[in-house]
Amino acid sequence: KPAFAPVTLADLPIRDDLRGRSPYGAPQIDVPVRLNTNENPYPPSPELAEDLAEAVRREALSLNRYPDRDALALREDLARYLGHGLGPEHVWAANGSNEILQQILQVFGGAGRSALGFEPSYSMHPIITVGTGTRWIAGARDEDFGIDPDAAVAAIEEHRPDVVFLTSPNNPTGTALPLETVERVAKAAPGIVVVDEAYFEFARAGTPSALTLLPEHPRLIVSRTMSKAFAMAGTRLGYLAAHPAVVEALQLVRLPYHLSTLTQAAARVALAHAKELLGTVDALRAERDATVEWLRAQGLEVADSDANFVLFGRFADRRAVWEGLLEQGVLIREVGPPQWLRVTIGTEDEMAAFRAALTRVLTRVP
Ligand code: PMP
Repeated sequence: KPAFAPVTLADLPIRDDLRGRSPYGAPQIDVPVRLNTNENPYPPSPELAEDLAEAVRREALSLNRYPDRDALALREDLARYLGHGLGPEHVWAANGSNEILQQILQVFGGAGRSALGFEPSYSMHPIITVGTGTRWIAGARDEDFGIDPDAAVAAIEEHRPDVVFLTSPNNPTGTALPLETVERVAKAAPGIVVVDEAYFEFARAGTPSALTLLPEHPRLIVSRTMSKAFAMAGTRLGYLAAHPAVVEALQLVRLPYHLSTLTQAAARVALAHAKELLGTVDALRAERDATVEWLRAQGLEVADSDANFVLFGRFADRRAVWEGLLEQGVLIREVGPPQWLRVTIGTEDEMAAFRAALTRVLTRVP
């Protein structure tokens, strides 16, 4: 092998605004119980895998050609899944909702522009914001991790951000927002409002989606993903619903043929099996509610959750708790406010392993 010059990241001519920053880095550790990245723990059935293989076999015969640049058939399927009278012209798809968010920031953010979010929230919102040369403004959430509408409107009036992020249910807290809060923000915001509904399918019954607000708010965007409830994290398929003009605007920055033929085909097969894939959501919700109850019974503080994870604390030394669990083969996430930890809801057996491991850790860690 040739010897490479001893150069470090700091020696490279990277942009000043990226210096000293850390990449997104949920540890990918191979342990028996992985409860750290909010995936659905139930894999697709062998029948679904068969249908996927068949779709890939069919598409393989034309892989010498570029994919449908506009992913029209997939957008039709996604619009049908969303309902609310939406059509393909209201829907856009990309490689995970992270790419959706990046495209939004590329069009509506950028140099000299700003984006506001309410922390603690999804760590990629500021990372994508800064990555697109946009200035990040950190707004605050209440003690109970909700957003006070008056404070949100005041922050918007003070900063006049080009993009506002609302995450509902919020990651890592699990907090869902009342529709009135979204509406107040949408009315006050001078620019785009993104409601990140990655975990919407896990919300408790009766939680309304911001999709209902789209017709009256042309600068509102609702983003969703197939990575969570849909149990398709490996497929990398995220999407949004918005006014057709917004979808048109995104075409200005999307790379040509960004969504591979195989991704489009796999996502369509998954949508055709929506009933099976979403069939685990009720069980996961029940397991979540039981987990919240159990953690509270241990005397811990637990945030109410409308998602497939639970934020709990408080620990003087959360790192010790995280490590204590990892030593027993249970990987959770060290994320959120300093004294809290987040556990993704797994299968019944995985949650039993989590409870057993945490019980042991709590006897020795304060
Ligand atoms: N939004 C939120 C709130 C998330 O938690 C995640 C995944 N952790 C995403 C978006 C991105 O997911 P994906 O790119 O897999 O769609």
